[in-house]
Amino acid sequence: MTCKWCEENNDIIKLCNVKDHSICKTCYDKYRNLYPLRVEGCPYCKGLQEKIIVYVHQQHNNSIPYEVIACIICYSVICLSIKIYFLIMLFIIILNNK
Ligand SMILES: [Zn+2]
Ligand SMILES: [Zn+2]
Repeated sequence: MTCKWCEENNDIIKLCNVKDHSICKTCYDKYRNLYPLRVEGCPYCKGLQEKIIVYVHQQHNNSIPYEVIACIICYSVICLSIKIYFLIMLFIIILNNK
């Protein structure tokens, strides 16, 4: 099997199952140096994917910190208990007036 890029009989590294995608180790190392941000693996199958897209997606998922959610829940519980307390007080005052 010969390399598709330099057409020499060097060490072919198996990056995917497609026979036409055979690339030697020397060519693949050059490719990795030229495009260090590209996803590792067969350059034909994964050539256009870059690692930066994955990082941005992960940051977007963790946009709301856990502390903010905990604060919102605590604040709503306190507000709700104050409202219930005032409703009970109002009910007691109405009962006493009768
Ligand atoms: Zn080669
Ligand atoms: Zn491939």
